[in-house]
Amino acid sequence: MNDCRAAVITAHNQPLEIQRVSVPDLEPGALLVRIAASTLCGTDVHRWHGPLGDGDSLPIITGHEPCGYVEEINGERTDILGNPVKRGDRLVWSYVACGSCYYCSVALQPCICPGRASWGHNRSDRFPYLLGSCAEYMYVPPPCLIIKVPEEVSSASAAASACAYRTVMHGFERLGAIKSNEIVVIQGSGPLGNFATAVARDHGAKQVLVIGAPAARLEVTKRMGADGVLNLEEVIDPKDRRQWVRDHSDGRGADIVIQVANNMAVPEGLTLLRDGGRFVNIGAGGNANISVRSLPQEMTFHTIRSGEPRHWLQAIDFLASRKKTFPFEEMISASYTLEQVNEALQAMASYRVVKAVINF
Ligand SMILES: [Zn+2]
Ligand SMILES: [Zn+2]
Repeated sequence: MNDCRAAVITAHNQPLEIQRVSVPDLEPGALLVRIAASTLCGTDVHRWHGPLGDGDSLPIITGHEPCGYVEEINGERTDILGNPVKRGDRLVWSYVACGSCYYCSVALQPCICPGRASWGHNRSDRFPYLLGSCAEYMYVPPPCLIIKVPEEVSSASAAASACAYRTVMHGFERLGAIKSNEIVVIQGSGPLGNFATAVARDHGAKQVLVIGAPAARLEVTKRMGADGVLNLEEVIDPKDRRQWVRDHSDGRGADIVIQVANNMAVPEGLTLLRDGGRFVNIGAGGNANISVRSLPQEMTFHTIRSGEPRHWLQAIDFLASRKKTFPFEEMISASYTLEQVNEALQAMASYRVVKAVINF
């Protein structure tokens, strides 16, 4: 096999082209994976609309949420748990931090390593070509950690673990334990918000309250374990939303606020938190010009970027072990073929679907 089909951004804001892209020779320890499903993320839409950061230069194979089957391995590989990896295994795989920069080796914060390898923004005309998930095959560089996907997890849900869900797991790790008397408010009812709702419920929160929109997404939110939902489009005054949270928390505000919408939601989120509460900021999109009148006293603020390899594993484990409790499949609301990639991105851009998947 010399090449395969891939959805390529050749110009910003223009339809993606289905092109034939080279399949590279494998370095020792590298894998070639036949993609089963690629979910789309808000970042894919932003990157299509315009360059994100300095590193973006076209052409790019879009997508960074892959799940697929091992087609070829150069040498012996084991997964993150030490089990041998063989042809035909279904898996997801982690990003790779450099291991030697200040953030990797001194600060032990590899998610902010400036040399970290990630997918969906790499030039498709340079080795190893296949580093975007909207393609028939993907190249898995040798240092990536491999997480096998158990039978009970769909390829689409596993793919969503490669970005959205593992970032949520990272956020909950940083948050630490939730006490059984604590009230969690989640800002956002997209894939991250709905997954966070399930995890907060599972981690024993007394109440999980979600502020989001539109109504159809909030129906899924309820089935993911929310005790109460508030529709932003119906309750348009932030003062009324704040009152709703106060009414549920003896007037104090939430013990924990998890922001999974975008940075514009932070100022309001801070007004929903009680003094001494914990704020987890996951939704990093949008204008970051955050102005607030005052911060809750003695509060803790965590900002989360991406995830470490164990968070991929935690997300896959959660999907497998809580399958009977939460309707995870409802979060992926529309399926497309590779040829329909433009339609899928449009549907995401207009918020018509919660999460789109390209199935192969
Ligand atoms: Zn590094
Ligand atoms: Zn993403």
